[in-house]
Amino acid sequence: MSESKRLFFAIEPPANIQRQIVRWRAEHFQPEAGRPVAAANLHLTLAFLGDVSADKQQALAKLAGRIVQPGFTLNLDDAGQWLRSRVVWLGTRQPPRGLLQLAILLRAQAARSGCYQSPQPFHPHITLLRNTSHAVAIPPPGFHWTFSVTEFVLYESIFSNGRTRYTPLQRFALSEQPRISDEV
Ligand code: ATP
Ligand code: MG
Repeated sequence: MSESKRLFFAIEPPANIQRQIVRWRAEHFQPEAGRPVAAANLHLTLAFLGDVSADKQQALAKLAGRIVQPGFTLNLDDAGQWLRSRVVWLGTRQPPRGLLQLAILLRAQAARSGCYQSPQPFHPHITLLRNTSHAVAIPPPGFHWTFSVTEFVLYESIFSNGRTRYTPLQRFALSEQPRISDEV
């Protein structure tokens, strides 16, 4: 039996936005505020799958590949801190319908495939700082980070040498039209 992988579906911000976020973070937060998430690791989780076997991964990827919905625009115009989970995050004041729909679909597919889904409501966010030790001042929103979401990504989360890294395994395009390969 092959080993399982720790997987999740997420949106990857464009590299230039990842870099701008990291620059903004360095300007607005003290180094001791928390552990910064590396630019390439910045992501918005849609559905967490947990430890998944190769067979189940294939089944989940096939279901995800059948999702037909148009892309949408994401405007990162909000930021905050969750004291209980000890993170500082970026988010959006008005989550686009497409974002919510995509997350709901992926979570339902995951649940039907036996991946436990937390009953917590979906709060779309990009974690910026982890392990925050205290409440920090969150700069007023003055962001202009808007980007088109044209795909979502299946990531593997790998913890090694004391660090967690996310590796994109598969990309799924968002479009109005069903993909040719999905036709039976
Ligand atoms: P680490 O746990 O190693 O400190 P991490 O939380 O970023 O780092 P994972 O636990 O592998 O790495 O999580 C990957 C992504 O899935 C993260 O965005 C995380 O917030 C999210 N996630 C993890 N567990 C859950 C869960 N039970 N429900 C919803 N999302 C989750
Ligand atoms: Mg975690």
